[in-house]
Amino acid sequence: MATSQRRLEAMTVTESAPVKAERWTHQWKELYEEVITTGLCTGCAGCVVTCPHDVIGYEHEEGKYIPFHIEEELGLDNCIHGEKGCTTCTRACPRFRKWEEAADTHLFGRTREPEEMSGIWRQLLLTRATDKVQHEKGQDGGFVSAMLIWLMENDYIEAALVSGVEPDDAWKAKPVLARNKEEVLATAGSRYTYCANPLALREAKEQGLTKLALVGMGCQTSSPPVMWDRKAGKVGKPFLFNIGLLCSKTFDDAIFVELFEAKYGLKKQDMVKMNIKGAFQIWMKDGSFHEINLKECHQWTRQGCKSCPDFAAEHADISTGGIGKDNDWTLTIVRTELGEEVINRMIADGVIESRPAQEDEVAMKLLRTLSIVSRRRWPEWAEASVSIGVPPPKKKVEGTEPAAH
Ligand SMILES: Cc1cc2nc3c(=O)[nH]c(=O)nc-3n(C[C@H](O)[C@H](O)[C@H](O)COP(=O)(O)OP(=O)(O)OC[C@H]3O[C@@H](n4cnc5c(N)ncnc54)[C@H](O)[C@@H]3O)c2cc1C
Ligand code: SF4
Ligand code: SF4
Repeated sequence: MATSQRRLEAMTVTESAPVKAERWTHQWKELYEEVITTGLCTGCAGCVVTCPHDVIGYEHEEGKYIPFHIEEELGLDNCIHGEKGCTTCTRACPRFRKWEEAADTHLFGRTREPEEMSGIWRQLLLTRATDKVQHEKGQDGGFVSAMLIWLMENDYIEAALVSGVEPDDAWKAKPVLARNKEEVLATAGSRYTYCANPLALREAKEQGLTKLALVGMGCQTSSPPVMWDRKAGKVGKPFLFNIGLLCSKTFDDAIFVELFEAKYGLKKQDMVKMNIKGAFQIWMKDGSFHEINLKECHQWTRQGCKSCPDFAAEHADISTGGIGKDNDWTLTIVRTELGEEVINRMIADGVIESRPAQEDEVAMKLLRTLSIVSRRRWPEWAEASVSIGVPPPKKKVEGTEPAAH
């Protein structure tokens, strides 16, 4: 636990150190104007779960996934507590102003270099769980589940904020708290609709749990480092380990009925697994396998993903993905000192196998390409540093086909 304790101590030291920074006065009013109404809001729920006055609402439902103000005193676009000095929501927002710089500096002591399209990292590995059940239940190599179980067994965390499903619908994602091995395994695998895992923080608080891991896409895992850097205070303290999921986009829940069922006759309740590897892949109960062209799925892209620049979950301790030639390994990007400590101990304990990811040249190329594609979505009028180093799209030469990825 040495490193995570050091992280907390560092936070405390930073909080009391004399810093000559501009006073942070930004509140809901600025968040609403600059993030929520401009399309930068991803719906990560960071502001919702950290609001000390509980005045930010959120509906975890199709077409919503966006925060709104509950108190009507000053209208939807202002907050009475903000007017009196509360600034927690902007301190927690991983899309407000210089968010990338804030999280980079806090985690790595520097900002990314222009060529670091996938963020800053220490090790690139391919990993998989050695335990057969963990490996089989996992989406790729079962690494994330193996790590959560290991973190619990080794007293790094008490529970994890993950994505479960509704009791009556195996594909309707919902944020849940996993407190033990069984609950981790029951929530393994990927759902490709949105799940604001930070919302499970409320349940953790109710249960008095204070040592947590957050599993989530980049839009969610940038929130704790941003909070730490902007000194949001005790709200950022329960997040002791941050596990990122690589992500190009999520889809609206309507894709199940409006595309998969209406056009291909594939009923949600008969699906057993899905994956995205160049196409939307679906495995059915009757043993059949289907691939649907991603271009067809495009119109069901969730609104909150359309300006998202972070494919590689660049501010997690460890980020994970499924790109590469092998289906049953997890691409594992070890970013922080704490992440490195944990992965080295997991390898030494024999709970995962690992090999250098550089062996898989296709995966390495895809990681860079997909990171660039996501960064190109970041609007020109928004914080410019996010687009530093992003190469312009290649011009199509007339009469040639675009290069396939
Ligand atoms: C919406 C989404 C999009 C993704 N897109 C890509 C991609 O484009 N390229 C790529 O390489 N990898 C992508 N991934 C990551 C990949 O699918 C795997 O999650 C990752 O490789 C880890 O695999 P694993 O076997 O180690 O994880 P597992 O052991 O299966 O654990 C996965 C963890 O993810 C959580 N989870 C599942 N669904 C969601 C969700 N919707 N929201 C939040 N948490 C969730 C689970 O609760 C579990 O804790 C995506 C994942 C998600 C959820
Ligand atoms: S990006 Fe997240 S923290 Fe920022 S406004 Fe949207 S939901 Fe809130
Ligand atoms: S693309 Fe992925 S990481 Fe980005 S906002 Fe959407 S879900 Fe979040």
